[in-house]
Amino acid sequence: MNVLVLNCGSSSLKFQIIETDLDLIEKNADKQKAKGLIERIGSQSLVTLQADGKSANKQAVPLRDHRTALDHVTKWIISHDAQIPGIASLGDIHAVGHRVVHGAEKFTKSVIIGDDVIKGIEDCIDLAPLHNPANLKGIYAARELFGSAVPQVAVFDTSFHSTMPETSYLYAIPYQLYRRHKIRRYGFHGTSHRYVAYRYRELTKKKHEETNVITLHLGNGCSACAIKNGKSFDTSMGLTPLEGLVMGTRGGDIDPSVIEFLMHKEAMSMSDIDAVLNKQSGLLGLSGLTNDMRDLLDEEREHNDRRATLAICIFAHRVKKYIGAYLAEMNGAEAIIFTGGIGENSPTVRQRVLADLDWLGIEIDENANVGMISGKEGEISKPGSRVKSYVIPTNEELLIARDTVRCVKDVPRRW
Ligand code: ADP
Repeated sequence: MNVLVLNCGSSSLKFQIIETDLDLIEKNADKQKAKGLIERIGSQSLVTLQADGKSANKQAVPLRDHRTALDHVTKWIISHDAQIPGIASLGDIHAVGHRVVHGAEKFTKSVIIGDDVIKGIEDCIDLAPLHNPANLKGIYAARELFGSAVPQVAVFDTSFHSTMPETSYLYAIPYQLYRRHKIRRYGFHGTSHRYVAYRYRELTKKKHEETNVITLHLGNGCSACAIKNGKSFDTSMGLTPLEGLVMGTRGGDIDPSVIEFLMHKEAMSMSDIDAVLNKQSGLLGLSGLTNDMRDLLDEEREHNDRRATLAICIFAHRVKKYIGAYLAEMNGAEAIIFTGGIGENSPTVRQRVLADLDWLGIEIDENANVGMISGKEGEISKPGSRVKSYVIPTNEELLIARDTVRCVKDVPRRW
């Protein structure tokens, strides 16, 4: 089956076409046939399209909404320019898999999208006002374009974390607030944490229920996950993706009193504060320079910038703190796994996160660490290290495509 995987943001659309099927999944022989990204939907959009094995084609095209963006993508997919093997018409796209950020308690696994599922995703908008409306735009557009003959599947960032026990997901606020409004930890990046845990099992031949690892997704958004007996046991993001680690523009954990304090001292409204916490904090807020880790590392190296160093150190310190907490919660783990743009590409950040943890049995191999960049997958710990460390590039799109196939064929996923 050719599966179109869509990941829609408020003004962006990312896609991949992946050929997969039950036996291709079994043989780990799925094939990515094309990928692309449309940014700045609603004005002069930046379009990047790339068929497998060919160079990327970049253009500026005015695209007014997600529907026109998807039209643009699908016209290219079946065009002479793209020449994607096995795809000559829209009929050669057999299913569409959508990334959906928030599924709350309602969606604990991936599902075929019908009217009731759309209503359920709309009901979760309160919990993810920045993300779910954008994901829905992609779903509405694809339904209109492909009609009911092409099945569509929703894969939720939250569903992997639905296995967390109450001790991990309840906040210590009045219980009736949880009952009334479902205020609790949900966690995000679930598809990424699930993917790297799966790859870890492939690399080490571990059984699912014997997998006890800490996964660290460090990108623009960052989260840590404690995976115990193969299941999400705890994670750092909460009701929304604002909690937990330091991120590009989000500060993560903070004393909630800061909000009232800011209201008085800076005469800020709730939406001003929301903007501070979501868009002006994290690496950007600390450094005053950028939310981009690569640029901060350059600033530190080339100009010895004190605030760049501070931002990087606080970022690493927070990750370290979560590693300690999760090792205690899980009574130890066999490995720590790095993924995401920073986790996959920055030996410096990994080194700072794992430094001085030898007492816990975590020892990083400097040579292995330095060599693990640009999509490489493997171990970065010293041979004698009691807790191993790995870098595993994430591939959320692949799991979305695989879940889509399993939902369409009505085969439950094993993990
Ligand atoms: P998103 O969460 O938007 O998917 P990514 O996972 O692509 O983002 O991560 C983006 C982050 O990864 C940025 O902070 C970027 O600077 C960082 N990054 C990418 N490559 C490197 C690198 N070689 N060294 C350090 N950081 C990097």
